Amino acid sequence: MSLPSDSLSDEFLMLIVSSPSGAGKTTLCNRLRADFADLRFSVSHTTRRPRTGEVDGREYHFVDEPAFRQMAADQAFAEWAEVHGHYYGTSFGEIGRAREEGSGVIFDIDFQGARQIRARVPAAVSVFILPPSLTELERRLRGRGTEDEPTTLRRLANAKREIAHYGLFDYVVVNDDLDQAYLRLKSIAIGERCRRQRHAPRCEHLLAMTHQDDPPSGGETGK
Ligand code: ADP
Ligand code: 5GP
Repeated sequence: MSLPSDSLSDEFLMLIVSSPSGAGKTTLCNRLRADFADLRFSVSHTTRRPRTGEVDGREYHFVDEPAFRQMAADQAFAEWAEVHGHYYGTSFGEIGRAREEGSGVIFDIDFQGARQIRARVPAAVSVFILPPSLTELERRLRGRGTEDEPTTLRRLANAKREIAHYGLFDYVVVNDDLDQAYLRLKSIAIGERCRRQRHAPRCEHLLAMTHQDDPPSGGETGK
């Protein structure tokens, strides 16, 4: 299956948001989802267990390893990777649904997934969320209280490896103050939507019209 938008001429926005665990990307993405009703969230498949409060089909599609492997073998994923000891993947179906229902899609995926999506869709826009410090990253991850100690240590140990891949991304947002960080992320989404190339169809449509196609305005034709 092919993916949309291999050039910026497509209006559909594919926004990738990545970060080390605990930096705040879920928090920031949730705000984006609340503010941009037409941006769909790509619900990934994962083999990790649901956390308290997570709902199957909302945060993730929770599957066991054989089911995940079967989907991978069936080429059902646009990208997939092993992250912190579990499998995570974005299905083509999820992207197709987002394309039918909205004018853009947000991916909360790691740098390996970002690399794969960007290889398929060069026009995808990618943002890396950076914690203000490693100490603050640890404070936030522990403060969230969702991981046991070995998982916490594993995620912290992986943080530097993830940050080392910042070069894969178009933008970096430092999540120091949450409101400021969100303003930066929102500005990126708005700015990307204003790119000239994304508006080429609209411009061409207007160019193909004549003044007679305009609704009566009370202006020069309405006297
Ligand atoms: P991620 O999705 O990147 O793993 P989360 O969004 O779950 O991270 O955030 C981890 C924890 O840090 C959460 O408890 C969240 O409320 C908190 N948090 C997020 N951003 C900030 C911030 N700017 N300042 C302080 N705490 C934050
Ligand atoms: P968590 O277990 O905290 O929800 O997510 C762990 C990591 O997996 C995060 O970095 C998150 O962005 C990443 N992730 C979630 N879904 C996907 C996916 O579909 N593909 C990839 N490559 N990474 C994912």
